[in-house]
Amino acid sequence: MPELPEVETVVRLIRPKLVGRTITGAEVHWRRTVVARAFEERVVGARIVAVRRRAKYIVVDLARRGRCAGAILAHLRMTGRMHVEKRAVESVPYAKVELALDDGRVLHFVDVRKFGRFEFTADVEARLARIGPEPLEEEFTAAWLQDGLRARRRLLKPLLLDQSFVAGLGNIYVDEALHRAGLHPLARSERVNPEQSARLRAEIRAVLAEAIEREGSSFDTFYRTPEGNPGGYQDQFRVYGRDGKPCRACGTTIVRLVVGQRGTHVCTVCQPRRAQSQKRRARDVSSRASSKRVRTRAPAPTAASTSKDRA
Ligand SMILES: [Zn+2]
Repeated sequence: MPELPEVETVVRLIRPKLVGRTITGAEVHWRRTVVARAFEERVVGARIVAVRRRAKYIVVDLARRGRCAGAILAHLRMTGRMHVEKRAVESVPYAKVELALDDGRVLHFVDVRKFGRFEFTADVEARLARIGPEPLEEEFTAAWLQDGLRARRRLLKPLLLDQSFVAGLGNIYVDEALHRAGLHPLARSERVNPEQSARLRAEIRAVLAEAIEREGSSFDTFYRTPEGNPGGYQDQFRVYGRDGKPCRACGTTIVRLVVGQRGTHVCTVCQPRRAQSQKRRARDVSSRASSKRVRTRAPAPTAASTSKDRA
């Protein structure tokens, strides 16, 4: 499923083609007629004043006669894509919604598996009110994260996936950030110390920024930028989808666990389950890196990854 970097990439690429345009027509292909008509009435004639991301949502703010007139709220879910094109001669396969614009172009929302959302909302802020802070904004401080981890008292990975705690993270970037921070996905959030939470915050921000720079990650045929290109961050993964391969930091075989029904990729040396002294950890890392024999002590990988894990 597209996460923060992929959704941010989509927003950045469609924004210049949409802001300032007026919606002149709407075709909705997968909703019941009555729902489609209501959507059409709300958006046709409105002017697009902003296109932005909040968590994994794409928000298209609308105005009429200079006043706010609600928003289109879109979520790509598994297979949704958005792009703006000159009106296609033949119809776009799997197009769920097509919005005609006053410059002759068309905004397409395409979704093979139909889990995505593309709907009008009169009060977008109310709809998004329960989402946690944006990790790339200033509000996401080390102190905030430390307090939140301590207060929630949950396992680290499920907590970081919870959009009410922090916005925009999903399976890929949580696995990557936890490895970079040296934290185990099953660690108790309340036991993460201030030094570790500062590192976790820094690594979350770093991995997201690096992924945005490479226009996100494409490891299957689904995610593509609005220009039709795959993202480039999948080549940089340290653990995600690398079960059975050596850790880039210490050489230990990456294992796959299932945490909250999600495939989870871990280096058990870089990410010890129990807190260890720095000295012991350093010793473990060097002994594992220098001996192939001890690598086999790592638990065997569980069943092969499924497409669901990768969503
Ligand atoms: Zn490692």
